[in-house]
Amino acid sequence: MVISTEPKILALDFDGVICNGLLEYFQTTKFTYTQIWNEHSSEFLNTFADSFYRLRPVIETGWEMPILLRALVLGFNQNQMQDNWTNLCQKIIVSDNLNKQTLMTQLDEVRDHWIHSDLEGWLKLHQFYPGMIKKIGEIIRSSTLLYIVTTKEGRFVQQLLRKQGVELPKKNILGKEVKQPKYKILRHLIQENYLLDNQLWFVEDLLKTLYKVQQQSDLKEVKLFLANWGFNTSKNHDLAKSNPNINLLSLEQFNNSYSSWLG
Ligand SMILES: [Mg+2]
Repeated sequence: MVISTEPKILALDFDGVICNGLLEYFQTTKFTYTQIWNEHSSEFLNTFADSFYRLRPVIETGWEMPILLRALVLGFNQNQMQDNWTNLCQKIIVSDNLNKQTLMTQLDEVRDHWIHSDLEGWLKLHQFYPGMIKKIGEIIRSSTLLYIVTTKEGRFVQQLLRKQGVELPKKNILGKEVKQPKYKILRHLIQENYLLDNQLWFVEDLLKTLYKVQQQSDLKEVKLFLANWGFNTSKNHDLAKSNPNINLLSLEQFNNSYSSWLG
């Protein structure tokens, strides 16, 4: 089989690959938290910021963020949170009688309200990783098709890119509104463009998401990359390294030519 040294489609995750929104996550989380649990002051919640930043890699979707802060406030053991997040998160959901869908809506409402009332302030809390905007510009001008595949609402991504002078059509930003797991979105992109699975490259910072792609028999040849600059841990890096189908990618490699990505 011919291994192409450049992708026909490059699919990039947004949070933790293109953009670091940690500061915004915490603020949005805090606003949402105080709507659900109102017994704590903003100052008190601020004391959990560092732990929140450290534990952010455990989170898969935005609605889990207020639960993560809740777990910290409740004093759960942080190692336990690291190793057993899914169960612990579920436990809090049940004990506090919460609903994922409602949490998601609340979080997006907080974000929308913030964007409408203080767009500049909101944008300022997002940092694009070094070299990223230049690189994205180069990809857009190249023959590779760029798609952003994210669990964030697409409209937020478009706002952030626009602020940096990057215009990416809406059809190239596949966000939460698509309501499909990422592997299904990738499958659709391959089919829609009449490609083979090995012509799509996918960069993501959540190992679990890469595993799910790997498990699809028709997506076995998709080139998978774990962005080591994103929200993941050295343990994740080791797991990626020991997996023959996942490439651990550094930001330096990312900013370099495609051939160096596989090196
Ligand atoms: Mg991510």
